[in-house]
Amino acid sequence: MTALPLHTRHERSFESNKFVYPVLSRRSEGMSIGVNLNPDKVCNFDCIYCQVDRTTQSETQFVASDRLLAELDATLDLVASGEIFKTERFKDSPLRLRRLNDIAFSGDGEPTTYKNFDEIISTCADVKRRRNLPHVKMVLITNASMFHRPHVQRGLEILDANNGEIWAKLEAGTEDYFKLVDRTPIPFRQILDNITAAAKVRPLVIQALFMRVHGQPPPLAELEAFCDRLREIASAGSKLKLIHVYTVARQPAESFVAPLADVEVDAIVELVHRRTGLAAKAYYGTSV
Ligand code: SF4
Repeated sequence: MTALPLHTRHERSFESNKFVYPVLSRRSEGMSIGVNLNPDKVCNFDCIYCQVDRTTQSETQFVASDRLLAELDATLDLVASGEIFKTERFKDSPLRLRRLNDIAFSGDGEPTTYKNFDEIISTCADVKRRRNLPHVKMVLITNASMFHRPHVQRGLEILDANNGEIWAKLEAGTEDYFKLVDRTPIPFRQILDNITAAAKVRPLVIQALFMRVHGQPPPLAELEAFCDRLREIASAGSKLKLIHVYTVARQPAESFVAPLADVEVDAIVELVHRRTGLAAKAYYGTSV
């Protein structure tokens, strides 16, 4: 059997860890230490391309912060010593990716729904400070649905003070397509308002995943509407520093979802750049 490219293997556990999982990330261009704040696999979205396996129940239901921090420290030790690149999973890592880029809050659900979100961000920032890692980013990978909550806003401010970066999901231009892809009762308007408000305070990265649904790529009218939403956000005085345009790279939840070809991803990047003037970057599917 052919081994999968490393970027397609984002298993949520490493050795015996329950909350912290190192991955080689294309979008981070290096090693990213993932922190899973949703071990119960509950999410307020139900994206058709989600790769979290919710057909089985997780044995870990709650975040145990002491254990999470111990795992974070131990994993940072492994990366700092280079020992991690002797393990079976990472021994084939390309040299250019053997650098620690970030600690990323994502996991098996939406990280900002975790009730102690601000506290755990603060504690992880303390770990980074204690280890003298100011250059290591703290990346929040989020669907932007909870930015209006006060404790989430506090967490975002702690990220701002600690080399943080927010990657907010936006992959539709209309309410209908948003409901088709992200399958949530949360209104599309709420997501747009949250992104607009958060990006007034600090520049955001937008992560936009497009795919084939039942064999069909996203309609051009939808992609143009997506660009219009980006322009509206930018014209409200909000800053979007980069648009990640990517496609499915791992086995999605639904079998009717498939990756776009590289040329289709490139065409979306070109459209975004032409219609919005914003910087956009392509990340392909299973091709390396
Ligand atoms: S927001 Fe993320 S974790 Fe939640 S369903 Fe979508 S892809 Fe999966």
